[in-house]
Amino acid sequence: MVRVTNPECLFCRIVRGEIPAAVVYSTDQVLAFRDISPKAPVHVLVIPRDHHSDLASLAGADPALAGALLAAVGAVAEVEGVAESGYRTIFNSGRDGGQEVPHVHAHVLGGARLPTSIVP
Ligand code: 5GP
Ligand code: ZN
Repeated sequence: MVRVTNPECLFCRIVRGEIPAAVVYSTDQVLAFRDISPKAPVHVLVIPRDHHSDLASLAGADPALAGALLAAVGAVAEVEGVAESGYRTIFNSGRDGGQEVPHVHAHVLGGARLPTSIVP
């Protein structure tokens, strides 16, 4: 399989195992790990193993992988025990969206009643 990767990208480095992460869910297409600076009791980042900068780029380039990423959000909610209690899924995109890491990622937040103002 040819992996789309970016040598400079922090999350690609996590995919390659060069930087440690607390992985909670993994398939051949996606990886989910705990955010290093959690904003809620459950705060997991879900990423495609291939490098795509943001959600629109991913959906345009590889819609099947975008679907796999969304399916993985539900799987993460199950393994983290928040599927029933509820959770919030956030994709930040670009500068004004507050995206710090330019490798598309879903934030999955839960484990407590979240304030409406939460911004990961
Ligand atoms: P963004 O602001 O791009 O939507 O979210 C990036 C997230 O990545 C932030 O919530 C930040 O805490 C998290 N993060 C940054 N560096 C690392 C790291 O090295 N490991 C992990 N697990 N999370 C990171
Ligand atoms: Zn990347």
